[in-house]
Formats: sequence, structure tokens, C-alpha cells
Amino acid sequence: MKKKYCSNPICNNEIKGVGNNPQPLLNLKVTDSVCDSCNEEYVIPARLGEPVSEFLKLMILGFQKN
Ligand SMILES: [Zn+2]
Repeated sequence: MKKKYCSNPICNNEIKGVGNNPQPLLNLKVTDSVCDSCNEEYVIPARLGEPVSEFLKLMILGFQKN
């Protein structure tokens, strides 16, 4: 079985199982998914309307330019 890795550009964790939908945090495809730790740390707070940290925003924007 092919290994799947977290779609978060600042994370390289291997995803166990099906992973988690990254929206609304990242502008990713439906087929993308993030690992459990990114889900808890970033995606759930984003869904609750908590602001994403400036550091994370900068990191994500930086990677999307490539
Ligand atoms: Zn991750």
C-alpha cells in the first residue's frame, strides 16, 4: 500500500488511515489530507474561527509560491 503524507507544506508526517480534510485551513484539493496532529493543531481551531498564527500563514504562503 502506498504511503500517504500530510498535505500541510510545513509538515512531513506520514498519514495513518484516511487522514483529515484540511479545509478550511489550506486551499487544498478534496483528495488532500492532513495528519492527526495538524488536524488538531491547525484545522480544528480554523474551523472554530480562531485566527491562524502569522507564522503559519507566512509558511504556507511561502510554500505555495513554489
Ligand atoms: Zn501534518
